[in-house]
Amino acid sequence: MAASAPLPPPRLLAIALALAVVFSAAGARMPASVTPISRNLYHSSDALLRDIKALVARHPDKLSMDTITASNKGYSTELFVVTFNHVKESMDNDSKIHVLLSFGQHGRELITSEVALRLLYILTEKHKIAGVDLLSFEKMLENLVIKVVPMENLNGRKRVEEGELCDRRNGRGVDLNRNWSVDWGKKEKDYNPYEENPGTAPFSEPEAQIMRELTKSFKPHMWVNVHSGMEALFMPYDHKNTTPNGASAHLMRSVLENLNHRHFQDSCLVGSGGGAVGYLAHGTTTDYMYDIVKVPMPFTFEIYGDETASTSDCFKMFNPVDKKTFDRVINKWCMAFLILFEEGLRNLRDAQGAVDNWVTMGGDIVEGSAARESSDEKRKLEGLDLGMQELRTYFRLFMLSTALLMFMFCTRISKNRNRDTDEQSA
Ligand SMILES: [Zn+2]
Repeated sequence: MAASAPLPPPRLLAIALALAVVFSAAGARMPASVTPISRNLYHSSDALLRDIKALVARHPDKLSMDTITASNKGYSTELFVVTFNHVKESMDNDSKIHVLLSFGQHGRELITSEVALRLLYILTEKHKIAGVDLLSFEKMLENLVIKVVPMENLNGRKRVEEGELCDRRNGRGVDLNRNWSVDWGKKEKDYNPYEENPGTAPFSEPEAQIMRELTKSFKPHMWVNVHSGMEALFMPYDHKNTTPNGASAHLMRSVLENLNHRHFQDSCLVGSGGGAVGYLAHGTTTDYMYDIVKVPMPFTFEIYGDETASTSDCFKMFNPVDKKTFDRVINKWCMAFLILFEEGLRNLRDAQGAVDNWVTMGGDIVEGSAARESSDEKRKLEGLDLGMQELRTYFRLFMLSTALLMFMFCTRISKNRNRDTDEQSA
C-alpha cells in the first residue's frame, strides 16, 4: 500500500527538478549542431607557421622573420613577426610608411590568420588577385615597410584547435583586446567576465607586452587589428561613442570611406568601434595605438561574420565553412589591404605636416594621461549572446515545468492503475 500512496509534494518536486537538471545539462553538453574546424580549408597553427617560414626562406630579399618570446608569472608565449620590405636596399627606410598588421588576436577567429598568410603570398609570389595584377601596386609597395603578426594569440589559438572553439582569450584566459592601458578595466553593464577578462593589470599579458614593444620600436603610421565576427571598418574610439576630433580623424575617416567606396560598394560599416555598433570596449589595442602611440591611422577591421549561426556554433559564427566563401573572404580582404595601403600612403603624404599626430612619429612614445578606451568588434554579438542566454534560461524553466507536469500526470495514472489493480485483485 505504501507504494501506491501519493508522493509528498517536496519529494515530487525534487524528482522533477532532478529531471529538469538532467535534461538541461544534457542540452548544454550536446548543442544541436556545432561545426568543427574545416581542416581541409584551414591550416593548423603549426602548418601555417611552417608555410610562412618556407616563404620567408624563399624570399630573403623581401621578407624576414623575427621570433619574440616573453613570459610573466609562469606563463610564456612566442610571437612571430614577418617584415615585408620591398627592394630593401634601394631606399632609405626612414622615409617609408610603416604599416603594422596583427591577425588572430582572438583565438577563435582563424580566418584572419589565413588572410595574413595569403597576403604574404600575394606580396611575394602570387602576384595576381581576383584578376588584378599586382604590378599596378608595385610602385606603391616600394614606399612601404609592412610588419605582419600572423598569429598574435598563439596559445589561445592552440586551445581552439584542441576543441575550445568558442574561446577568444589567451592561454590563461585573458582577452588580449582588453589588456591595454587606455581606460583599462572599466566594465559596462553587459560586461562578460568570461570573454572580456582584462587581466590583473594593463599589460599583464606577455602577448600585449610584446606588441607594445614592437610598436615602440617600429613606430607605425598605420595599424590594423584584424578580427572576425562581423564586417566593418573601425577607427577609434572603442571606449566611447565618438570619433576623435581634428585633422587626424578626418584623415582616418576619409581613408576608410574611400576604401569602402572603392572596394566594398559602400556596404561596410564605417565609424568608431564604440559608436558604430553602439557598445563600448575598454582597454583595446586600437585606442592605445591612437591615444598613446599616436599612430595617425589606427584601425580595427572585422572581416567576416555569420549572423545566422547559433551562438554556440562558434567556428561557423566567426569563420567561413565552405571553400567558396573561404576563398571569397580571403581574396576580398587581401585586395582591401592593398587598396588601404594605397589610400593610406596617398593621404599620409598629402597630410604630412598638417596632422598633429604625424610629427610625433619620429619621436619618443610617452605614455600620457590621455588614456582612453576603445572598442571591440563583437559588442553587438555579445549583446546577442546575452539575449540567447536569457532565452536559454526561459527554455530551461519551461522544460522544468513541463517535466514537473508530466511527472505529476504519470504518477496520477500509475496511482489510478494501482488502485484498479488493487480493486481487481481484492
Ligand atoms: Zn575578435
